[in-house]
Amino acid sequence: MAKRVPEPFRIKMVEPLRVTTREERERALQEAGYNVFLLKAEDVYIDLLTDSGTGAMSDYQWAGLMLGDESYAGSKNYFHLRDVVEDLFGYRYVVPTHQGRGAEQVLFPCLIKKGQYVLGNMHFDTTRAHIMLAGGKPVDLVIEEAFDTSTWHPFKGNFDLNKLENFIKEHGTENIAFILITVTCNSAGGQPVSMENIRAVSEIGRKYGIRVFIDAARFAENAYFIKQREPGYENKPIKEIVREMFSYAEGFTMSAKKDAIVNIGGLLAIKEDEDLFRRVQVNLVPMEGFITYGGLAGRDMEALARGLEEGIQEEYLHYRISQVAYLGDRLMEGGVPIQYPTGGHAVFVDAAKLLPHIPWDQFPGVALSNELYLEAGVRGVEIGSFLMGRDPETGKNLRSPLELLRLTIPRRVYTNDHMDVVADALIAIKERAHTIKGVEIEYEPPVLRHFLARLRPLK
Ligand SMILES: *Cc1c(COP(=O)(O)O)cnc(C)c1O
Repeated sequence: MAKRVPEPFRIKMVEPLRVTTREERERALQEAGYNVFLLKAEDVYIDLLTDSGTGAMSDYQWAGLMLGDESYAGSKNYFHLRDVVEDLFGYRYVVPTHQGRGAEQVLFPCLIKKGQYVLGNMHFDTTRAHIMLAGGKPVDLVIEEAFDTSTWHPFKGNFDLNKLENFIKEHGTENIAFILITVTCNSAGGQPVSMENIRAVSEIGRKYGIRVFIDAARFAENAYFIKQREPGYENKPIKEIVREMFSYAEGFTMSAKKDAIVNIGGLLAIKEDEDLFRRVQVNLVPMEGFITYGGLAGRDMEALARGLEEGIQEEYLHYRISQVAYLGDRLMEGGVPIQYPTGGHAVFVDAAKLLPHIPWDQFPGVALSNELYLEAGVRGVEIGSFLMGRDPETGKNLRSPLELLRLTIPRRVYTNDHMDVVADALIAIKERAHTIKGVEIEYEPPVLRHFLARLRPLK
């Protein structure tokens, strides 16, 4: 039975949600061109579009905003943030950035020579873009189990170590800029990477003289999974696990909009390479801002420092990961096919399995996300062939290996009752799945069509 873990907080301030009627939602979706990205957030009851920047700050974080030191240089909030990072991760050199991609755009040009590969388990999309902008070539080397949605594996975000070593041998160390470990692996569905795997990747890096960095957006959720699933870590405090994870790398980029539970912010930290840090600082100034604010207000740095400490609290992580698992378990019990096991931040519904009568180029994931909105005012997002876009040469639709609906859970925002609303709606939809129709494209922009395209349901 799906297990509810009660919220380890109480509610001090509420943000009222608008509960709409089915007729209102039909009108709103039609006006949005049957593309949930174009809905007004006001017309959404439960918004599971993303977990990025959508978390709820605590009273302690909000109190920190009042202590913002908005000095241009040398803000005391910067030094607090730097001390927290050093204490948590053991890295001395820190700069703030406006968000994760800010850290990427500052660091990657310092590491990549034109044409070099950057080896990852599975790079996040902005990461991939910044690798290419810096002249590099992103390569994904995740284990095959990551692509098998129905079989349990404790660490589906792991590197395939054979693939990694073979790639290095085949292409030569001089053609590899660095290795980037993404924890948890967002693109593989928030799946964790084991300590053993992080250690082994680091050893391969050392053996071949290749630097290892971490894409740290969900570092705390990854540490929690290690504690839950990896022998030898069950009694270790999360903080110790985080320390060990980061001891195997030379630096990290972080979107603080995820596990650090702020609405905006990012970080770039380097363990001990002072020369690299100098080059990072030189890049930071024209791109993000002076070295002690990097695109953030003093108050934002204070909230971020406090969020980092809250994000590793064990009761919080237990509740957080359990809430995502609860939604996944309820769906499985109700016969809705999902990617298994659930990851740290999202549940992925297998739309191709739920709507087998809708061909891939009529976008079953989009049809399902629209139906879920109409049913209950819940906004999820398609991760499938609609997102993939077209082959730039032939203009033909590209087919994604999976047609998924992603339900991403913001941190500390929705209650377990909200999860029941989502599960009940999808289970109801499953009962009448055969009546749901695919969609066709009415208008699409030349790139990144999923944000702006207008669609219509097929008759
Ligand atoms: C969100 C994210 C990023 C980019 O961060 P932004 O704050 O959105 O710029 C990079 N890597 C991973 C794994 C992410 O989840």
